[in-house]
Amino acid sequence: MRVKVFTIFPEIFPGFLGYSLTGKALNDGLWSIETVNIRDYAFDRHGSVDDTPCGGGAGMVMRADVLGAAVKANYRGGRIISMSPRGKPLTQAMAGELSHEKDISVICGRFEGMDERVLEAYNVEEISIGDYILTGGEQAALIMLDAVIRLIPGVLGNKESLSEESFENMLLEYPQYTRPVDWEGRKVPEVLMSGHHQNIARWRLEKAIEITKQRRPDLYQKYLDLKKV
Ligand code: SAH
Repeated sequence: MRVKVFTIFPEIFPGFLGYSLTGKALNDGLWSIETVNIRDYAFDRHGSVDDTPCGGGAGMVMRADVLGAAVKANYRGGRIISMSPRGKPLTQAMAGELSHEKDISVICGRFEGMDERVLEAYNVEEISIGDYILTGGEQAALIMLDAVIRLIPGVLGNKESLSEESFENMLLEYPQYTRPVDWEGRKVPEVLMSGHHQNIARWRLEKAIEITKQRRPDLYQKYLDLKKV
């Protein structure tokens, strides 16, 4: 997968994607990243990329001509995404779908966001990482890319560890334990030490259902709907 990021802070990348599993995958060439500094496409001597909003109001907006020039000079096809609180909320299913793409371009907003005309002109998909406001799209882009890259085949060692994770089956994960079996008087549930695979699987499913029902009734409903089909 080739990732191209449009940003005014290229030095933020690859950031934490350069560590651990995503970092190893980057070194192994399973994905690559290129940044485009939007400021390089500014035309005044101050290198301005933003201006006041038409119609008034607080803050600044990324200029259509500057951002547009950056995209025009560097976008070579494939999915083009803008990180935005107005976007489609990112889900595990979307991350899975994006993990099959060859080319992903990501535009990171700053200030109050960007001129709408660039989004229209390039048919940009808007994606949100949640119902809260960050200072910039870079943080959101890193999080989205982390969720996507770990799903690229070969990035995670153990395929099975994927299918049991939270959200894969619309259930949150069951509680996990490791050594020591007795920690300060708290024991690992006996069933997990029994070696009885069916009982372990049943216990885990029960716990996953219980936790999901309690913490995320919305997700639990999706699980029930999924089971019906
Ligand atoms: N005025 C905008 C918020 C701007 S925040 C509004 O009310 O919708 C500045 C930039 O941070 C945005 O352009 C976007 O790129 C990024 N951003 C902030 N919150 C985000 C979120 N929840 N998901 C994705 N991107 C986000």
